[in-house]
Amino acid sequence: MADDRPAISDQSEQALLSWLEAHGEPAYRAKQIRRSLARGSASSWEELTNLPHALRGALATEFRWSTVDLVAEEASADGETRKALLRLRDGSQIETVLMPHHGDRNAICLSTQVGCAMACAFCATGEMGLLRNLSTAEIIDQVRHWQKDLVRRGDRVSHVVYMGMGEPLHNYAATLASVRMLIDHELFAISPRRLTISTSGLVPQIDRLAAEDLPVNLAVSLHAPDDATRSLVMPVNKRWGVEAVLAAAARYVARTRRRITFEYVLLRGVNDSATAATALAALIVAHGRPQDSHVNLIPVNAGPGGFTRPRIETTERFAQILRDAGIVATVRISKGQDIAAGCGQLKVVNERRSGAAARV
Ligand code: SAH
Ligand code: SF4
Repeated sequence: MADDRPAISDQSEQALLSWLEAHGEPAYRAKQIRRSLARGSASSWEELTNLPHALRGALATEFRWSTVDLVAEEASADGETRKALLRLRDGSQIETVLMPHHGDRNAICLSTQVGCAMACAFCATGEMGLLRNLSTAEIIDQVRHWQKDLVRRGDRVSHVVYMGMGEPLHNYAATLASVRMLIDHELFAISPRRLTISTSGLVPQIDRLAAEDLPVNLAVSLHAPDDATRSLVMPVNKRWGVEAVLAAAARYVARTRRRITFEYVLLRGVNDSATAATALAALIVAHGRPQDSHVNLIPVNAGPGGFTRPRIETTERFAQILRDAGIVATVRISKGQDIAAGCGQLKVVNERRSGAAARV
């Protein structure tokens, strides 16, 4: 049966107000509904018991409560990280991850596209190609998926990273609309300082984001200090090279006054030499104050391309060279690797579970 109902997460406050007015309902219901959808624990319209029965029925006829259905959830052996496989209305599947941290924060990782067009050599999502963009509601409903679970336990989503499937800045409008909903005080009320958008380096969109004057954190996936190596593992580098990406990052810092994170996936024998570390440090220093930059070193997770991780000593040497140049460098071992919830692994389980090819 075709279900053409628009998603409630896609309705602006104004649209909801108009709908309520047309149905003879008081305006304050809009606040109630929006609050329930962002910070409530309900799984369906029926559970909004603070609304009159008839209104619930009318809303259910008009709007879909959620655009995502849980297909499967896996918990990591670390006892904290959980990954949800969600089905969208057209049958596509996406994944989202919850990463609680010592009971004081609940970070979630969001997908913005089904697949990705950027085709990075080591990334499972990139291997899928781009199937389609997610709508704003499909991004926000990933947050709501975790939020309803956390709210039931007296907790809430505190941090959001756009590091799941897809390139967030390649789906700019929906990503930005979702950011605006996350920081909206009437909705999720999450500080923009607790949001991080990760990009493979789409220069015009980085500038566009800087001009929004939202102090969200930017993470730039660099992965190599020179164009030859970067183009080899990130085809997008042929469009915007290392210098252009670093210059855009510096403009972002100047405009937003946020520190920037450079993601650097370590690939044994490809980008992990002392020479590469020295070149990376020099590049960062040349493009701004090193203290404004943080380098996140990520030993590669199992994925396409047959890449392997450097030895631990090589990784440490790489980090030390950056630190000696005054740059904060951390080594991140992705959480939840046993459930393939690590970065760049967000396709593997999807295909195994769905059985069918993910391309449509
Ligand atoms: N598309 C955006 C955000 C999603 S990818 C981007 O590329 O920045 C999030 C991070 O996971 C990126 O830094 C990406 O390079 C990294 N990643 C992808 N595949 C990986 C792998 N196999 N091992 C470790 N990190 C990986
Ligand atoms: Fe896309 Fe990011 Fe994967 Fe590259 S690393 S293919 S940009 S999701």
